[in-house]
Amino acid sequence: MSTTSPTDEVAPGAGRLVDPQRRVIDYLRVSVTDRCNYRCTYCMPEDGVDHVQRADILSFEEICALVACFTRLGVSRVRLTGGEPTVRRDLVQLVRMLRAIPGLRDIALSTNGHLLPELAAPLREAGVDRLNISIDTLDPARFASITRRGELERVLAGVEAARAAGFTRIKINTVAVKGFNDGEVGALCDYAWSRGMVPRFIEQMPMAGGQLYVPGALLSAAEIRGLVERAHPGRRLVPDGEARGAGPARYWRLEGSDDVVGIISAMTEHFCDTCNRVRLSAAGALHTCLAYDDAVDLRAALRSGGPDAVVATIRQAVQGKRDGHVFDLIGIGGPRKAMIQIGG
Ligand code: SAM
Repeated sequence: MSTTSPTDEVAPGAGRLVDPQRRVIDYLRVSVTDRCNYRCTYCMPEDGVDHVQRADILSFEEICALVACFTRLGVSRVRLTGGEPTVRRDLVQLVRMLRAIPGLRDIALSTNGHLLPELAAPLREAGVDRLNISIDTLDPARFASITRRGELERVLAGVEAARAAGFTRIKINTVAVKGFNDGEVGALCDYAWSRGMVPRFIEQMPMAGGQLYVPGALLSAAEIRGLVERAHPGRRLVPDGEARGAGPARYWRLEGSDDVVGIISAMTEHFCDTCNRVRLSAAGALHTCLAYDDAVDLRAALRSGGPDAVVATIRQAVQGKRDGHVFDLIGIGGPRKAMIQIGG
């Protein structure tokens, strides 16, 4: 990883990406595929997922050309995500190609961990700096039920493979679901802490137009903090001041220890005022807010006008970045933004 500051890397005259709320955008999430080998109940329906046509998925060359445009604008960190990024063929090769882009300081990857037993070492060697691994429960049967296709044993082996490959401060992402894993908040923290990892709990968001949202399943950030404290009697959570990543999580520390827990609370404690990110879909659509469907087509800009057209399109899109999101749950409706398209 280079030690150059992101400011030094901005191409002369390009200027940084600053939106009308004066938020500096320096972080890009890149979805390398919309496909997934799991079907987590809160994320995708079991069947009937309308995938992007293979021909419409960005090639590695297109992804790198677009990322290079973002680095011209001061974006220095990317996170590869999905769907499930590890199901994209030759992902390791993509990481090598991204590593060669000047100005890209940090490459992170979010994964369900299923393929990490095979891929952790090659990904580390290719240049992935940081890993987030999703684990919603430590009970194999419950894991199989929430992921519909998942194998906890493989994922836990994947975690160990990642640690053996040299990944440090791995983050374990858990979607907090009331009535499902509220009883495991303490155990998930202890699992992560005992391995030098950072547990993080994500408030469940009503993605896919709210269709997968189970009313009453929201476990709030405040409730999550209460559950962590209850599992560790006599120890209080205090805000942790240290910067621990590029993302929206807020971190808390068990007083008197180095044990840190992150909470991503898109529902009850918004973080929009500090939002530093935009998202590139697997087909090249740029979204400036997770909660809305608004997008501009960067692949079209790349094909028709090349990198300069892409840079201009990104700038314009960032000027329209929303002040914040609202996930209002009105009946089953709510937000329109979907992580996946549901067919029929
Ligand atoms: N497949 C990869 C993974 O498992 O990390 C990357 C993509 S996945 C969409 C990224 C994260 O979003 C995962 O931790 C997942 O559990 C979480 N997620 C998916 N649907 C969610 C929802 N409705 N609310 C909150 N988090 C969600």
